[in-house]
Amino acid sequence: MPRPTAFLYTDEFLSYNLGGKHPLQQTRLQMVHRLLGAYGLLSPQGPVDWITPTPATPDEILEVHTPDFVEAVQRAGRGEKGDAVSRYGLGPGDTPAFPGMYEAAALYAGGTVDAARLVLSGQYEAAFNVAGGLHHAHPNRASGFCTFNDLALGIHTLLRGGCDRVAYLDIDAHHGDGVQDCFYHDGRVLTISLHESGRYLFPGTGFPGEVGEGDGEGTSLNVPLYPYTEDEVWHAAFDAVVPRALARFAPDAFVLQVGADAHWQDPLAHLQLTSRGWMEAVAKILTLAEGKPVVVTGGGGYNIRTVARLWTMVQAACAEVALPDTVPAAYDALYNLPRLHDTERPVIEEKYRNESRAYAAQQVMELEATGVLG
Ligand SMILES: [Zn+2]
Repeated sequence: MPRPTAFLYTDEFLSYNLGGKHPLQQTRLQMVHRLLGAYGLLSPQGPVDWITPTPATPDEILEVHTPDFVEAVQRAGRGEKGDAVSRYGLGPGDTPAFPGMYEAAALYAGGTVDAARLVLSGQYEAAFNVAGGLHHAHPNRASGFCTFNDLALGIHTLLRGGCDRVAYLDIDAHHGDGVQDCFYHDGRVLTISLHESGRYLFPGTGFPGEVGEGDGEGTSLNVPLYPYTEDEVWHAAFDAVVPRALARFAPDAFVLQVGADAHWQDPLAHLQLTSRGWMEAVAKILTLAEGKPVVVTGGGGYNIRTVARLWTMVQAACAEVALPDTVPAAYDALYNLPRLHDTERPVIEEKYRNESRAYAAQQVMELEATGVLG
C-alpha cells in the first residue's frame, strides 16, 4: 500500500517570477507536476492526492514577519521603487520585485501552511509543497530569492496544532539561515542544515559554533561542507550527526527542505552529490521521521531538469512508490529528460576528495566540542 501523501501545486506558482534571466526559473515546478502526472501518480486512482494551495493569511505571515517588511513587499509588488523597498532586500539584486509579489509570496507560504495542516489532520503522513523551501527569508527582510519564509510559517502551524517539538532538516546546498534565525532562541524547534560552507558560498553563515541562544541553546546545528563534497563524504557527515541529534531532541513532527542544488550538475553551488546519493539522503530522513507527520518543501535548484527528476523521486519516496527509471516517452519528447537518475557521473580530483573528507571530519569534531550532539 502506498503511504498517504499530498502534493501541493497550482500553475499559479509560476507567478513568482523574478525575471527571464534570473537563476530561479519556476517552470521547474510545472515540470515536476507534469512528470508526476506522466507517471500516473496524480490520477484519481493514483497514490498521491494533488491539492491546490491557498494563500497564507496576513495573520499567518505576521506570525513570522515584521509589519513594516510585509508592507514593503506589498509596495514592491505595486511597483514602488527606491530605498523604501530596497532596504528590505527587495530588488534590485538577488530578490527583484515584480508585479503581484505579495500575492505570489503569500501563495508559496500558504502552500507550506496547508501542507502542515494536511499532516496534522492525520489524513496524510507527508505533504510536499514543491514551491516552498524559501529558507533565506528573514523576519524583516527578503534575501537570496526568498520573500516570505514558508518554512517558518509551516513550523508555527505545527506548533499551534499541538506539536511540542519540531525538527527542521535542510539539505539545500546553501545554509538555511532564515529558518535558523526565526527559531534561534526557541527550544521547541531543532534546525539542522548540511550545506556548502559559508566560506565559499552564499549566505556566508552556518558554522558549528552557531548553536542557538537562550531557550534555543543547543537546538541549532550546522554542518558546513567543502566544495566538491561527494556522496560518501556527505553521508559520513550526515550519519555522524543527524541520527544522534534527532534521538536527543525527540521531535514529534518534521519539516524538510530538499533544495536540489547540492546535486553535482547545479550551476550555482559546488557540492557533488549524485542523484542516487541525494535520494539516499531523502530516504534516510524519511526513515528517521517514520511514524511522525512530515512536511516536505522544495528549495534551491537551478538546473531545471535535475530539479524535475529529483523532486519527482521525492514525491514517489514519500508515497513509497517505486518509479521506473525510464521517463514516459511523451514527457521525454517534450523536455528531453530520458531518465530519472543521472546518466553521467561527476569527476572529482583526488586532491579535492581528500580536502573535502578532512574538512567534513573537522566540522564533526567541532560540533562534538559544542555539546549539541549530547
Ligand atoms: Zn540553495
